[in-house]
Amino acid sequence: MPKKFSRRTLLLRSLQIPMAGGVIAALGACDSDSRDALVCADPGSMSSAQESVRRTLKYTEVSSDSARACVACEFFYPAKDGGAGCGTCGIFSGEPVNPQGHCDSWSVDS
Ligand code: SF4
Repeated sequence: MPKKFSRRTLLLRSLQIPMAGGVIAALGACDSDSRDALVCADPGSMSSAQESVRRTLKYTEVSSDSARACVACEFFYPAKDGGAGCGTCGIFSGEPVNPQGHCDSWSVDS
């Protein structure tokens, strides 16, 4: 004998399916953002002194002003393979930084 659903159950089910689809779409968007982002600084692998310098100088992996990104800073050294990967920073003792990053010591050689 076929199972009967009440109108209330059918209404609730019809709302749950679109909501589940929205959650899955949102999770997919988060995953693609994290895949595309280049992360160069790993706080878990640096000393507390290195982390402290980055925190004090407000280092960020992505500059809010692309004209003042690490790649345009006099202290930036590009990736050794010449690619768009992580470079290094003279201020951070040659530790990796994101070419699109920024900190308060950003400077251009004048
Ligand atoms: S000094 Fe700051 S802005 Fe310049 S390369 Fe280093 S982290 Fe980037």
